[in-house]
Amino acid sequence: MQPRDLSAHEAYVPGRGAEEVARDLGMDPEELTKLSSNENPHGPSPDAVAAVEAAAPDVNVYPKASHTDLTERIAEKWGLDDSQVWVSAGADGSIDYLSRAFLEPNDDILVPAPGFSYYSMSARYHHGDASTYPISKDDDFEQTADSILSAYDGERILYATTPHNPTGSVLARDEIRELAERVDEQTLVVVDEAYAEYAAEPSAIDLLAEYDNLAVLRTFSKAYGLAGLRIGYAAVPTAWADAYARVNTPFAANELACRAALAALDDEEHLERSIETARWAREHYREELDVPTWDSGGNFVLCEVGDATAVAEATQERGLIVRDTTSFGLPECVRVSCGTREETREAVEVLNDVVAELR
Ligand code: PMP
Repeated sequence: MQPRDLSAHEAYVPGRGAEEVARDLGMDPEELTKLSSNENPHGPSPDAVAAVEAAAPDVNVYPKASHTDLTERIAEKWGLDDSQVWVSAGADGSIDYLSRAFLEPNDDILVPAPGFSYYSMSARYHHGDASTYPISKDDDFEQTADSILSAYDGERILYATTPHNPTGSVLARDEIRELAERVDEQTLVVVDEAYAEYAAEPSAIDLLAEYDNLAVLRTFSKAYGLAGLRIGYAAVPTAWADAYARVNTPFAANELACRAALAALDDEEHLERSIETARWAREHYREELDVPTWDSGGNFVLCEVGDATAVAEATQERGLIVRDTTSFGLPECVRVSCGTREETREAVEVLNDVVAELR
């Protein structure tokens, strides 16, 4: 017995974990610094950890109240109606819910190249396909409504990522407005703000009050340090009131994740510290790395290192895991996440040494 023909579906390949890399290299995972998945080097808020511990004895019960509490808390934060908040297992879960709610078979979507792979994977599961618009190195990865719409052909969903992964470039709020105004009536513009906390540009969520063809994705995986709990959400148009109940996976987010997210939202100090460290680190990378880098609104910096695969392998042997962006179509670059100050300084040293050695 075989599954259906999945040959057209690419597999999601997550960055390798520290344990995996350590095993291959015969090292202790403690000796490795993992700056390849844009995780929060400060870890989760201590309040979130306490909330998980407090909630753990109740996990025999389905997570209904916690899900409602989190939905209401997020709606209050952004001035949305509760029905506009679609809580999910990470932003990834929201991408799937949007596909389920919006795509008919054979509907196409438009996504950035390079870009986050799950947009097109999700569309394919729903029997659609993806076309791409370029975010071009020749233009320093600049994103504008014009550059995005250059490839637009009436697709049902148009994804824009800001700050963009893996380049770090930011799409200005006026450009998002322009996208919402210029696309055809049947197109939903989805703004993926997975890294928005780190950027200077404010969220586009308040634009939902003005445009009914806009949705925004957010996550607790990055600035809130809860990647392992898989919790995120989409902010969706008001008119979609009853769609969530029709498309969500029953009990879309688990009890521990919901309680942790609620605690994390209240710990502003931890959030601020996380953002401050990342902003310091990305400036440090830009000033101290001996290779070309690009301005980033996220908690990572893209670096042009030559042979990315060789460089990533060599840094690993020196205990530093960075992301080789060959799979994004940038075989000459690595993406390095913002670590603590100590980790970031060490990463600069290792990257500069390795690039010099391989030159
Ligand atoms: N969007 C972008 C641009 C991302 O980089 C990621 C994670 N790497 C996600 C969405 C998904 O995040 P999560 O599912 O962890 O919330």
